[in-house]
Amino acid sequence: VSECILGVDIGGTKVAAAVVSAEGDVLHRIRVPMRADGSAEDAIGAVFEAIDGVRAKLNGARITGIGISSPGPLDTKNGVVLRAPNLPCWRNYPLRDAVESHYNVPARLENDANAAGLAEAAWGAGAGHKYVLYATLGTGIGTAIVIDKRLYLGRTGAAAEAGHMTIDRHGEVRCGCGKPGCIEGLAAGPAVAARALQKLSRPSNYVAASALPRDAERLTAEEVVKAWRAADPIAIEVINETVEALGIWFGNLIDVLEPNVIVVGGGLGSALQSLLPTVCNVSAKWTVNPRAREIPFVPAYFAEDAGIVGSAALWLDNSKVLTPTK
Ligand SMILES: [Zn+2]
Repeated sequence: VSECILGVDIGGTKVAAAVVSAEGDVLHRIRVPMRADGSAEDAIGAVFEAIDGVRAKLNGARITGIGISSPGPLDTKNGVVLRAPNLPCWRNYPLRDAVESHYNVPARLENDANAAGLAEAAWGAGAGHKYVLYATLGTGIGTAIVIDKRLYLGRTGAAAEAGHMTIDRHGEVRCGCGKPGCIEGLAAGPAVAARALQKLSRPSNYVAASALPRDAERLTAEEVVKAWRAADPIAIEVINETVEALGIWFGNLIDVLEPNVIVVGGGLGSALQSLLPTVCNVSAKWTVNPRAREIPFVPAYFAEDAGIVGSAALWLDNSKVLTPTK
């Protein structure tokens, strides 16, 4: 190994870094706690600690590029973290330049959903497909549009925020972004938990039969999924509504994009993997595309490593930099 690419995945609680091979394999992975509540210097210190940990294992191999994925919103063109809710440490922080100047290596920055989608399109569940739509369902809903292994970024890099597409404009649920009826406000983890809690406050035998925890602290989306697996009546109702909302949303996206494949990841996305054929069926009712059913809905391949692999994949278009490491 003489040259390699580093992928760095920054989250609200941890920083993960690794070398990623030209085949998408993760080598020398390091994970350190992120200091998201500290000063900007503390936080970048955690990033350097992760990168240094990987460098220490490289046996003299030269790092030719560093890819970074971070929660948004970002100004990716200028490599700046604007004001990510999960990263209070940074406000208008020039993350890319900070990494570039510290290591004297070129760096690229992308938001976490775009990076994960790129990883899936390049080496994961979307590999071999020209048009890939990636959706991550978790505490939020993020998406990526990948065409020929290149991210569709839009004019300023703000494209593919389909999680904030409004599904119900009269919806009483307001999303964190401020709009009513976003799919994120209807089908992300917190929305699933909130709807279950709301239903549990209705007086009925049906509610009484539910084994779900009755307090907001303990009633998480994970609990709802667990109860749904155990055929809990309230959980079934909540999950059915979630599937319906997702189907409408994917139907809209199919009308806009007609992808070759739809890759679904994230914590909630993988927990509901067995429902993907049902989501596909519902989506076919909400699109004018007569061949929508031919579009496979597949579970994501990368779990925890999606951010690391995807940020390294930001260098895919530069074959001079992304060289085989084995
Ligand atoms: Zn929204």
